[in-house]
Amino acid sequence: MDLGLRGKIAIVAAASKGLGKAVAMELASEGAEVAICARTAADLENTAAEIRNRTGCSVFAQALDVTNYAGVQAFVAEVEKRYGRVDICVTNAGGPPAKKFLDISVDEWRAAVELTLMSTVFFAREVLPLMRKNHWGRLLTITSVSVKQPIDNLLLSNSIRAAVTGLAKTLASEFGANGITVNNVCPGYTLTERLGELADNLAKGAGTSRDAILHQWAAQIPIGRVATPEEFAALVAFLASERASSINGASIPVDGGWVKGLL
Ligand code: NAP
Repeated sequence: MDLGLRGKIAIVAAASKGLGKAVAMELASEGAEVAICARTAADLENTAAEIRNRTGCSVFAQALDVTNYAGVQAFVAEVEKRYGRVDICVTNAGGPPAKKFLDISVDEWRAAVELTLMSTVFFAREVLPLMRKNHWGRLLTITSVSVKQPIDNLLLSNSIRAAVTGLAKTLASEFGANGITVNNVCPGYTLTERLGELADNLAKGAGTSRDAILHQWAAQIPIGRVATPEEFAALVAFLASERASSINGASIPVDGGWVKGLL
């Protein structure tokens, strides 16, 4: 299926590793020009080089923290200057820490709001006016299955990603008439480096192996395994395409059936 992404200009935030990297690779493989960011310049450059080598895409990479509004503004402005427009924007950031309510300080709440909610607001504020000018756009927010089914101990994720989902749904309504769709993509257990490290840490504490922990997670998932970042990226690429032009305001899990709710 030709997704019609050739020549589209796509920003993917927090994309030196994991889900963001897989999304950038998939969009570039479909012929889009991608611009990526993350905080660690060396990792970002390695990823940019890998995408260039595998896809032939030019890849614009800029080191920045997505919680820095001025940095996000300058990045988006530079993408528009280089390519003349922004068609697709995928928002993403690292995950907030896993803690129980009474262990989370007020400062940690504020930091998590900046990381998860405000970083999405920053990108949306910058890209939506550019998309509206061209009467075409795709804004995709990466959140978590926690917006469908809260996860024990992930209080910050459960709370603040719900706000991102409310934001995406409202923007979908406000900008739909401008040829812009806004959708929320919800990863379940997906085998990124970070999830592998989490499994290693849990394994160390429990005196067991990474595989045993992955097996425990897999046992909660109807398809019997965790997802791959590429499976997640395939949905994002589809939602970014012309083919998905009537999918708007949706929150779609990529979780092998882990969410038990109906919708
Ligand atoms: P990952 O492998 O740790 O990758 C995170 C990426 O984000 C890295 O490129 C990292 O680079 C960048 N990043 C982190 N904080 C940033 C910041 N403040 N500014 C700019 N870039 C930043 O994580 P992942 O597994 O892909 O997860 C991505 C998101 O999906 C997270 O929010 C995670 O909680 C959520 N999620 C993941 C899963 C899963 O199973 N993998 C499931 C549900 C939800 P730098 O550190 O160099 O900045």
